[in-house]
Amino acid sequence: MRAAYAPLGSGTEVARTEVLTTRKREDRFDRSRRIPWFDLERTRSSRALVVGAGALGNEVVKDLVLSGVGHITVVDMDRVVRSNLNRCVLFTEQDAERGRMKAEAVAEAASRLDPVAEVEPLTERVEDLGEGVFDRRDVVVGCVDNLAARVHINANTYHLGVPYVDGGTMGLMGKVQVVVPPRTSCVECTLNASHYRVIEQRYSCTGAGVTFVEPKLASEVTTTALVAAVEAREAMKLLNGRPDLVVSNLFYYDGNRNVSDVLEVAVNPACPNHRAPGARRGAASRSAAAKGRGG
Ligand SMILES: [Zn+2]
Repeated sequence: MRAAYAPLGSGTEVARTEVLTTRKREDRFDRSRRIPWFDLERTRSSRALVVGAGALGNEVVKDLVLSGVGHITVVDMDRVVRSNLNRCVLFTEQDAERGRMKAEAVAEAASRLDPVAEVEPLTERVEDLGEGVFDRRDVVVGCVDNLAARVHINANTYHLGVPYVDGGTMGLMGKVQVVVPPRTSCVECTLNASHYRVIEQRYSCTGAGVTFVEPKLASEVTTTALVAAVEAREAMKLLNGRPDLVVSNLFYYDGNRNVSDVLEVAVNPACPNHRAPGARRGAASRSAAAKGRGG
């Protein structure tokens, strides 16, 4: 009977050394370079903002780092708890025990995936992020769990002309909307009066945040991983200068039946971002106004 593994003699030792040397020399992005639109230099110099470091944020940051994105800022003001661990690939039991900031835990773990990438944590409330945080980004990826945060990100990015990829899940259902201003419709194009009432519930009349108990929704890793992967892939196309390839512009996924669809959302003439020239700036400040802070 032949041994499963030949003992290392002088001949096999030389061959083994050659294999190891070749492996060391092999380009990390060899397989990525074989994708026609992938440009490593462009990807390495790109700046992405990921808003939310929960289940979607974990997956999106992991995917963007592994894809070679050079500069990522990840925003979240929450701390890791044990119930996050069924779907957050970058969190550990120790993070939950220590109650680490989610953004810091994600940034540190992502940096280990690719030490060349700069991954910076930002521990702020989404609704407090000013234009300066969104400005000079090549893409913003939304991984948030509430409408008020979505509207705030959408208004700022639309005003600044920064592409925004918004994702969300509910149980085994998910969606991704790609907003490329000024070409496409935006997140607010899909909203009606009842949506805005939900947003107003989050704030008191004085503008201070009120205690708002969010219902705990079902969430599991296969749906969040799939939706986040679509977000990251569309973000990569945008970072590589190929907005012509992104989904136009709403992707739906139903994991119960394992079906997906794409729906093109028309520009809503009543949307504050599209109403009139200059309306976009007003929209950017409207989520602040909803908190009683004026423009
Ligand atoms: Zn709109």
